Amino acid sequence: MKERSPSILILGGGVAGMAAARSLKHQDLSVHLVEEQEQLGGKAALWSCMATDTCKNCGACLSQEMAREVAEQANLSLHLKTKIAALKRTDQGVEALLTSGKTIVAAKVIMATGFSAFDPTELPSLHWETSPKVITTAELNSLLKEEGLNTLLGKTPTPRIAFIQCVGSRNRELGKDYCSQVCCKISLRHAQKIRHLIPDTRITLFYMDLQIIGKEIRQTLKDLSKKINLVQGVPAEILEDPDTHGVTMVTEDRTTQSRIAQQFDLVVLSVGMAPALGLIETAALLEVVPNGWGFFNTKDAALTDDLYVVGCAKGPKDILTSAQEGKIAGTKVIEDLGLAKNPDMKVAVLGHGPQASRVAQAVAASGYPVYTFGADPDTILPRGSRSLAQARILTLDGTAGEFSIYYEDQGKKETLSCGAIIAAPEPCP
Ligand code: SF4
Ligand code: SF4
Repeated sequence: MKERSPSILILGGGVAGMAAARSLKHQDLSVHLVEEQEQLGGKAALWSCMATDTCKNCGACLSQEMAREVAEQANLSLHLKTKIAALKRTDQGVEALLTSGKTIVAAKVIMATGFSAFDPTELPSLHWETSPKVITTAELNSLLKEEGLNTLLGKTPTPRIAFIQCVGSRNRELGKDYCSQVCCKISLRHAQKIRHLIPDTRITLFYMDLQIIGKEIRQTLKDLSKKINLVQGVPAEILEDPDTHGVTMVTEDRTTQSRIAQQFDLVVLSVGMAPALGLIETAALLEVVPNGWGFFNTKDAALTDDLYVVGCAKGPKDILTSAQEGKIAGTKVIEDLGLAKNPDMKVAVLGHGPQASRVAQAVAASGYPVYTFGADPDTILPRGSRSLAQARILTLDGTAGEFSIYYEDQGKKETLSCGAIIAAPEPCP
């Protein structure tokens, strides 16, 4: 590939790194994406689909779509199964030596190194190492993906499964007194999926606090509230039968001041997120230090003039938020390098009357092709823009930066792919 200038180095090929790469695809840049694994997608690519009768909007399938697109990106060089051997600032930029032997001098570095799951061997009282009936969320995910849950549960007609939340999070003794943000969502989606597959499963979820931000997950909790047992508090003790590996959980009932022992066929440890291995060491090469938990939290994407941080390298977050942060960082790199925005990005303006016309003209004046839905058909728009005054929107979907609007115009069904949608209703009189 012809070497262009300047170069951008992206560390990490998960959704955040791929989203950053994608947002640079129309630029005259040489984008280098370095990923330790042999394929793109990060942990999201390993995630099983959480859909039951409907999609749960977990974002996992987004990673496959992004990986296909990034692999074909013309201005991108992919360095799979590769690590950073050395990294230093020079007068020309950040010089990175890859384990493949290649040297890249980058104007900007985007750190999208993801996270490591908490290692449950740090809490031996949970018996993860010794009992095959105690597994982590990631292991449950693999079982669901490979349809292996029934095999593990055996012929039990009404299996009893316990979820223990906040394993390795909200724990001051471990130096991890932060919330991992996503594990409540994941456990609730897992519980819903298991009940969908094995309706007679009896599920108990032990929690400290439930992080249920978002309409979809609140609905999931509402749907599950009469189907699973929610117990506030973590078990006081977990006992394992060394012969049968059966697990007994002892909880304290604060009202009756009594101890209750319950047996389970499977215990799922909802492990939290920790900084990615090697993240701190890599960042130290560029003389940046993390917060007390090992993450690089910044208000916006830029940590320094030449270093941007996105996704779980900043702190725990879900797939869709990581993708959004990657895209924002890419856009910031474009701005900081003083490059022109993507001239091909279409913007849809929805609304009737003069307000929609004014908004459409203002956006068009910034150089973007505008598609108006409902605005006055006489609105003067530059070439490349289109007025769809009579079109009827059927549905729309997508995420920040990549929307699809399905519409019908003069009896014909069409799709518009656009980077932004602006709703421009008439102000109230
Ligand atoms: S977003 Fe999640 S639940 Fe929906 S289809 Fe994709 S993987 Fe399945
Ligand atoms: S998301 Fe839920 S399980 Fe995870 S740390 Fe926060 S409160 Fe605990």
